[in-house]
Amino acid sequence: METGWKACLTMIHLHVRERLESEEEERLSPFAVKSRRSRGRDRYEEPSPVRTEFQRDRDRLIHSKAFRRLKHKTQVFIAPAGDHYVTRLTHTLEVSQIARTVARALRLNEDLTEAIALGHDLGHTPFGHVGEDVLNELFPGGFRHNEQSLRVVEVVENGGQGLNLTWEVRDGILNHSKPRESLMGQIDAGGSTLEARVCKLADSVAYINHDTADAIRAGLIGENDLPGLAVDRLGRTSSERINTLVIDIIDYAFAGGGLAHTQGEALRIGMSRPVLEAADTLRDFLFREVYTRTSEDELAQEAREVVRFLYRHFVEHPGELPAELQAMEGSAARKAVDYVAGMTDQFALNTAKRLEEWKIERF
Ligand code: MG
Repeated sequence: METGWKACLTMIHLHVRERLESEEEERLSPFAVKSRRSRGRDRYEEPSPVRTEFQRDRDRLIHSKAFRRLKHKTQVFIAPAGDHYVTRLTHTLEVSQIARTVARALRLNEDLTEAIALGHDLGHTPFGHVGEDVLNELFPGGFRHNEQSLRVVEVVENGGQGLNLTWEVRDGILNHSKPRESLMGQIDAGGSTLEARVCKLADSVAYINHDTADAIRAGLIGENDLPGLAVDRLGRTSSERINTLVIDIIDYAFAGGGLAHTQGEALRIGMSRPVLEAADTLRDFLFREVYTRTSEDELAQEAREVVRFLYRHFVEHPGELPAELQAMEGSAARKAVDYVAGMTDQFALNTAKRLEEWKIERF
């Protein structure tokens, strides 16, 4: 009797995933990635009865330890005095929100978009780009946070087993990075799916706005210092600017063939020239007035020393790494990078203090 009921439930559950997959086929744009047609995972797993493959990846990312640690990692301002500054976690959630709005409007796969967004910054070091620069200097293979994000989901998480995510999510995570160039330059640079390109653009939309707000909050710049071109074309407040940017991305896709599906022309993911110019202007302004200054102040210098010390220490003393890292394959330098890059700001400081009675009074 019970076996029969259980079998019946299994049938109903199977029906749930299959229905979700069929809905994707019917509802999404021809250019969206459909879960059923994913290139799949490195290791085969039985499909979930009630979730598509991309929903499953999104859930795995949320439950990962690396995701929880984002809460205590710097975005731009190290150890800020207030509770309203953006952290790597709130940045990630903003990217996800913006990317999902765009994906849904364009009938792209929202679950895939969300999974990429939630995973994109998992490889970020403590102390933001300051930590990234130090590891890049010291690690023989160089260090880039997007490559580390991929490594976290492929290898480091789950006791060295990785999360075994689908190919599309991993591709999006790897290709979200942003060399300093026009926002459009980044878009053309990579990401094999339209969902990945949306995330890349959403990343920029999020950070040029929340970093502006935080820089004003910190008193580094004033509201009236923002470039006139950016304010005129994008808006005076963060919410106006995000709205302008998001709507422009959606309009741009529609204008470029988004409605002409029958002609087989792919959706264009990008921005119109005037809005792109304004966004680039704001971004250049942030580099000049904010990022350069925050990465050179005394706090940043000390953070640099901490990361440098920790990396060297764990290269020389691999026996002090957590057991699961010791058990992983790779050089001592590789493991030291994995360990240090995974640390939160506070954990890095505490570890440095514990190991060398570090005297850092500002933190
Ligand atoms: Mg990001």
